[in-house]
Amino acid sequence: MTRRPGFPARLDPAGAPAGRRPAAAAAPARAAPAGVGLDSQAVRARMVQKLAAQGVGDARVLAAMNAVERHRFVDSALVNQAYEDTSLPIGLGQTISKPNVVARMIELLLGARGASGGRLGRVLEIGTGCGYQAAVLSHVAAEVYSIERLRGLHERARENLRAFRLANVHLLFGDGMAGFAKGAPYAGIIAAAGGEAVPAQWTDQLAEGGRIVAPMVMPNGQQALVIVDKTAGRLTQAILEGVHFVPLKSGIA
Ligand code: SAH
Repeated sequence: MTRRPGFPARLDPAGAPAGRRPAAAAAPARAAPAGVGLDSQAVRARMVQKLAAQGVGDARVLAAMNAVERHRFVDSALVNQAYEDTSLPIGLGQTISKPNVVARMIELLLGARGASGGRLGRVLEIGTGCGYQAAVLSHVAAEVYSIERLRGLHERARENLRAFRLANVHLLFGDGMAGFAKGAPYAGIIAAAGGEAVPAQWTDQLAEGGRIVAPMVMPNGQQALVIVDKTAGRLTQAILEGVHFVPLKSGIA
């Protein structure tokens, strides 16, 4: 397991002459968890302000983005970029989405007819990756089922999430193209990987009044965000802005 440093990562080399270090560095070490929490909280609050300025208006989403320590999900070398509006590599060729995209997609999920007001019911996430989005979802949904096809990332997400003790997050290893029938029906299904179409299993497993938010490859080869709503058993689809997600792949590895 790679060690995760505190936030922000220390940039001064450990071997720097003691006399040239700032006085604070020579003081007895502060209790690490409190220091980490305080430092990252301010940076996260700025990220959330930026999200609001960019148009994320749902208070539930902003609160969830403020609550989850994104820096705990990225590699130690990238900790200082954790709150920038950028996607970051999480290993095995996959990426954690930009905070803006995570917030936007969850806001869309919460905009479903069946979700007005409080928390969403059960949610299925396709593509656990490092587990960050699952942690954010855990603040806005009653139960989160998150499925990942790469064993290495599934295990990494388990490690990343352990310290958060999120009792309502259920990590699954498998091919999310088939959804996860045992947890159905879902109030929301959110995909972090883009395929050619929304699999029929997802729409089958969607609850009445529920919504799917997923990237999908358009006929021109570019991906766009798609929402699918189920109302009185009927499906309606809307195509939104262009996005860049890793491909949705079948099978496990
Ligand atoms: N939500 C993630 C983003 C991960 S990137 C996070 O917060 O980190 C998308 C993930 O989707 C990758 O890990 C990729 O392996 C996974 N993926 C792609 N196709 C999949 C499928 N059919 N089933 C499950 N996971 C899939």
